[in-house]
Amino acid sequence: MYLRLSIFLSLVLFFSCQTKNTDTQKETMTSRATSQAPEPAINIDLNFIMGKFDPAKDSTFVKIPRSYADQEGRYMKEEAFVAFQQMAEAAKKDGIDLIIRSAARNFNYQKGIWERKWTGETKLSTGEDASKEYSRAETRAKKILEYSSMPGTSRHHWGTDIDLNNFNNEWFESGEGLKIFNWLEENAEKYGYCRPYTKKDTSRPDGYNEEKWHWSYTPLSDQYTQYAEQYLKANMISGFLGSEVSDSIDVVDKYVLGINHICNSH
Ligand SMILES: [Zn+2]
Repeated sequence: MYLRLSIFLSLVLFFSCQTKNTDTQKETMTSRATSQAPEPAINIDLNFIMGKFDPAKDSTFVKIPRSYADQEGRYMKEEAFVAFQQMAEAAKKDGIDLIIRSAARNFNYQKGIWERKWTGETKLSTGEDASKEYSRAETRAKKILEYSSMPGTSRHHWGTDIDLNNFNNEWFESGEGLKIFNWLEENAEKYGYCRPYTKKDTSRPDGYNEEKWHWSYTPLSDQYTQYAEQYLKANMISGFLGSEVSDSIDVVDKYVLGINHICNSH
């Protein structure tokens, strides 16, 4: 305990003297320095993991230029964006246009998405009104969870995960969509990106349905996944309609950790 405390204090002192270091460098150095101990990198905490912050005001996030996104005002972790930019430029040379359709979404933003589906204001992808079709809270939550995360549990909170080009799996199965999908399947890994929501099968029995549009920058998101695995508990997920079932549906084990194992280095 005293040893850990002293390691932590020396890290704090060390970083306070390293004002010119970027946050990315801090993260890398911190995770190396603590690789022997269970403590996570200093700048990861539960508020960050649960999206309880404003990406527009966080210096480790950057605004995505309009040329890479469908609209202004989308944000990502800087390191994840730099890697995306390299990937998008390489794709362009092969005639592939990668467009970010969604990036960082914080707790409040996700709460809006979730509650509109919960109350039926937004229909499910099947066209159903969840509030009318599924009166039992647990069943309703599971239906929404086929494609949408509970606030506090989305990988989009982290600024490492993006949705590309189209929100329909079928779109990626022919023509331009298939060309884009094949290019990503072949090349994304070189830029640190993986697809967490592959087809559900014996190797990925739990979690969201397949999403051919969702990609994750693993050099960072893998650290965040490990942190969530260790510290995020289902009973911490609260503050929105239907959150009382987060524990009984096992939202952390089944959904946060229900990802393609290729996206997990640990
Ligand atoms: Zn997504």
